[in-house]
Amino acid sequence: MKKITIAIDGFSSCGKSTMAKDLAHEIGYIYVDSGAMYRAVTLYALRNGLFLNGEIAKDDLEQRIPNIKITFKLDPNTSRPITYLNGENVENEIRTMEVSSHVSVVAALGFVREAMVRLQQEMGKDKGIVMDGRDIGTTVFPDAELKIFVTASPEVRAQRRFDELKAKGQESSFESILQNVKERDNIDMNRAVSPLRKADDALLLDNSNLTIAEQKIWLKEQFDRIVNS
Ligand code: C5P
Repeated sequence: MKKITIAIDGFSSCGKSTMAKDLAHEIGYIYVDSGAMYRAVTLYALRNGLFLNGEIAKDDLEQRIPNIKITFKLDPNTSRPITYLNGENVENEIRTMEVSSHVSVVAALGFVREAMVRLQQEMGKDKGIVMDGRDIGTTVFPDAELKIFVTASPEVRAQRRFDELKAKGQESSFESILQNVKERDNIDMNRAVSPLRKADDALLLDNSNLTIAEQKIWLKEQFDRIVNS
């Protein structure tokens, strides 16, 4: 069967990763969470004191980019990818509210995007990949055979993030999460480099009222349609 490239873009916390991971597992493709890469760079910047009064020390970060090595390994128990930053498992740390509230500023920097996009294109050079993010169908893999753009209301997305953090014991108020979701949407859509937008040839999926099982079936149908065409 021919191997294709699958790009899943959309707003934060709209369940992109869950659907992308499940599909990749089912069809035996590599899964890459590009957001985890921007989160890992952000964690590096936070740990190295590169945020001063909420401002990022751009020049300093640019010089250090070659020292930031991001890799993924599959968790043998869950078959889910784990993010490593310079050899350290940072999968939990990159999901905290502290990283969430700084990541969009880091992801708006042109030199950060260039470095990440290069890495992402390398990972997908042999196809057989599902990647989720904000600019996968527009910038990283503009020739992807299957592109999906996922959206849901900010309230639905904040509730999902709230439940996710709560399950991990990281309590946070619903209001602060909703505010973070809206702020990230705003920065992601209005940045100069690769802003979040639907590729013209992407299929739109609003999953506000869909269960995970329903969207999984829908996505598999889209995949089958493309590979059998
Ligand atoms: O997908 P996730 O919410 O984990 O991504 C974290 C942040 O990384 C996003 O809010 C966005 O600012 C940035 N991002 C990006 N381009 C991508 C993936 C994520 O700018 N391809």
